Amino acid sequence: MSGIKRIHDYFNTLHGRILLGGLAIHALLIPMLFVGVIYLVKGGFESTFVDRARADAQILATLIETTESTDVITNLYSEVMSSRRYVYLDLVTEEQNNSDNDFKEDAYFGQHDDDTYYVTVPLKWDLGNSENLVLRVGYDETPIKEKILYTKMLCFYLAGAYVILVFVASGLFTPLITRPMRELQLKSREIAAGNYDDHFDIKSSRIQEIVRLTNDFEKMRQELVRHNKELEYQSLHDALTKLPNRVLLQDRLHQAIFTAQRDDSQLALLMIDLDGFKTVNDTLGHHYGDMLLKQVATRIQGVLRKSDTIARFGGDEFCIILPTISNVRYATGIANKLTECLEQPFMFDNQPYNVGMSIGIAIYPKHGLDAPVLMRHADVAMYIAKHNNLDYTVYDPNQDKNSISRLSLMWDLRHAINNGELHLDYQPIMDLNSGEVKAAEALVRWNHPRRGLIMPGEFITLTEQANLIKPLTTWVLEAAARECSQWLKQGYDFSVAVNLSSRSLHDKQHPGRLMRIVEEHGLPPERLIIELTESAIISDPISAREILEGFHQVGVTLAIDDFGTGYSSLSALKKLPLQIIKIDKSFIMEMMANKDDLVIVRTTIDLAHNMGLKVVGEGVVNHEIWKELKLLNCDLAQGFHIGRPMSAPRLLHWIDNMDKREVI
Ligand code: C2E
Ligand code: MG
Ligand code: MG
Repeated sequence: MSGIKRIHDYFNTLHGRILLGGLAIHALLIPMLFVGVIYLVKGGFESTFVDRARADAQILATLIETTESTDVITNLYSEVMSSRRYVYLDLVTEEQNNSDNDFKEDAYFGQHDDDTYYVTVPLKWDLGNSENLVLRVGYDETPIKEKILYTKMLCFYLAGAYVILVFVASGLFTPLITRPMRELQLKSREIAAGNYDDHFDIKSSRIQEIVRLTNDFEKMRQELVRHNKELEYQSLHDALTKLPNRVLLQDRLHQAIFTAQRDDSQLALLMIDLDGFKTVNDTLGHHYGDMLLKQVATRIQGVLRKSDTIARFGGDEFCIILPTISNVRYATGIANKLTECLEQPFMFDNQPYNVGMSIGIAIYPKHGLDAPVLMRHADVAMYIAKHNNLDYTVYDPNQDKNSISRLSLMWDLRHAINNGELHLDYQPIMDLNSGEVKAAEALVRWNHPRRGLIMPGEFITLTEQANLIKPLTTWVLEAAARECSQWLKQGYDFSVAVNLSSRSLHDKQHPGRLMRIVEEHGLPPERLIIELTESAIISDPISAREILEGFHQVGVTLAIDDFGTGYSSLSALKKLPLQIIKIDKSFIMEMMANKDDLVIVRTTIDLAHNMGLKVVGEGVVNHEIWKELKLLNCDLAQGFHIGRPMSAPRLLHWIDNMDKREVI
């Protein structure tokens, strides 16, 4: 089977096709030529022979007629016969001639046996009687047949030789086409494999079509090289300033560290954040912001040597590598020069704009042995410089450990979401009367690769400061909505609660985003409870109201979290479209021991009910509190007595197996 396939494949190659075409043409041409040549040669031989025989016979007849001497005729006869062209020479009567033959073509030509033919010529002798004599010259056709056979054989051998020649020639000449084609094919494969450095140059062929094809390929290769270089450049450079980007910076930093390690030298990494850039961007617009960044980049480049690397790190952040420095003073000297280069104000619309910079410096090997550590430490130093209004600071591990650790955590936060380091735990919220789980609160956790599990209390504020709260909230909402719609599909009947940061109350796009999320996950909107802290609402009531109205339009359930800690009265929240009040755990946990707290809890529950709100008691740590809340007519309870925050699968397992009597 594979043999047949190989033959089939061969005839689908150029070589095979040329051979097949040649074979087809010759299969037609050679027999035609063969038959044609034989036909012509045979006809030629025969007619020549017959013509000659007729001519000879005519001459003989004329001689016989004009010669009276019998001797002459006898001599003539013996001469003719000795030439061995003729078999016999007869003088017969016409009557004899007509009866004495096997076949008669006409009055002058006939056949005696297979190979003997004759030509007749009537003699014009007057013998006095009525009998007319006829001269009959018989000749043998065998020599002609032999000649024709010989010619046939010759033609056959010639045709054979021709076919062999064609095969040999096609074997020799076809590679002249197929070899360059093969070369082109191999080079194209190399290009497909990403190796475009070699020129397309098929010197072995002068065939015009192949030369043109090669030139086209070469043009295509050059275009690819150019395009790839452009792509590579784009992937490694910032489109606005044309400076190396974060990726190229990291690569250069690795290289610089490697060189410093080998040469036992030091290098400095400078992290720069512009001060005052936001003012230009916000007041004059992005166009001027972009111009400013370009001009800053040019001024910074003016301070540096060619061997230094300056990269745009994103936004208004730049990063500089100073390879092989002699000491820290060199780096601080550069930092001073950088600060000076921005002293001259930037002019936009004839207005001067002052921009400064905060620089953080980290030195290899003193402040870190690898790129990530050096970058984090330069970043920490930069935050400290900014925080303390300094032009620059050199990283100091002895500085306030706490702030450094907070700042480095802030750095790590940037990658936590994308690296999949976050997860949600869910804490059940139970109906105080029926003991049924009515909701689960989604609480975010951060599995830090080095520090381990970090609780939200440690990083939510940092997330807000680092401007990362929006992506974090979106991630939490997506994950919680996905999970809850799964629960509903599996037959569990409870809602999911998500905490929103106070910052979300300034984001006008939030309701729209929320709508998209519930729709995308097919979650009935009322199943999503949005928890907002009381303090978030009272700090900016007007915009809070607007956003809460937006949320309400989407149809989600709204809850006030940690109620009681914001010192606001419930009536202040009256105009807001709320459905749930969550009394802060500090009151609930203390209410059995502290009468004041008990009063607050009781009045809050009563007031909330009057306003048509449901009440959740948070921090139900024991059965005593549970019972008290039930007495106070509280609707729902959340706390360690019921269940701690747990992963989604564990929550379902817990619901399936819990013994309500242990709780209620
Ligand atoms: P929260 O919204 O008031 O959540 C309840 C917190 O109280 C949770 O702490 C929970 O573990 C804890 N808790 C519940 N029952 C008890 C109890 O009986 N005893 C004690 N001692 N604690 C109890 P967690 O998970 O550390 O969350 C702290 C806060 O972080 C949350 O308070 C919430 O304000 C915030 N947070 C959590 N997840 C997110 C989130 O995804 N986004 C935002 N913006 N904030 C979040
Ligand atoms: Mg909450
Ligand atoms: Mg709370």
